[in-house]
Amino acid sequence: MSARQGLLGGAAILDLGEVSRRVSPADWGVRAICRSSPGLSRDQVEAWPLGKLDNALVALRQRHFGSVWHCAPTCGECGGVYELNLDPAEMGFGPEHADDTQAIETHEATIDGASYAIRPLIVHDLIAIERCSEPEHARTYLASALDVPETALDEALESAAELDPLTNIWIATECPDCGAEQSVLFDPARFLAEEMARASDQVLSEVAEIALAYHWSEDAILAMPNERRRYYLGRIAQ
Ligand SMILES: [Zn+2]
Repeated sequence: MSARQGLLGGAAILDLGEVSRRVSPADWGVRAICRSSPGLSRDQVEAWPLGKLDNALVALRQRHFGSVWHCAPTCGECGGVYELNLDPAEMGFGPEHADDTQAIETHEATIDGASYAIRPLIVHDLIAIERCSEPEHARTYLASALDVPETALDEALESAAELDPLTNIWIATECPDCGAEQSVLFDPARFLAEEMARASDQVLSEVAEIALAYHWSEDAILAMPNERRRYYLGRIAQ
């Protein structure tokens, strides 16, 4: 995939920024990938293992905002906010696999003397449990999805996670102010949704500035490639 493919235009950034305030991070992640890859259906993306969605989101973010993730976790001890720069390439994220027909890998796990074919969690599972109002409902859903009794669920989930190393990555960090150590979850969907919301605010203010100077409609300005919008902003600033 070339660096130019799958770049979101102003209208898509605005939509994704707005929708990020209404839907869960996983649901948002699916929308972002479908929007940037029009050949993919929502059902196809929901059938991906979680790590495949995270990897696609990392690639989407790299095309828009660069490879280093600038995070700002809050220290659980002193409440201070500190800087954390992460490079997903060092965590194993990498080029996307174009092959979408690949079957999901399963492995045999023996739990309490019984044998189960365990598969990784898929995006559809995550969206389903995000919609559960009670934790017990989520457990019931997961046991049924993985086809194991609820008593075997915890071990089945551990086994499922081993099949999908790009999901649930925790980063060990240390607060520079008080020295407290804490683990931070690398959650591409949540992080990118927040970043896209800020980018959409930026697009809106650019549209307002260009409309004020040239009296073009919002639709016309949003339909421009990002570079052309920036060109007009540069003209206005001169
Ligand atoms: Zn601290």
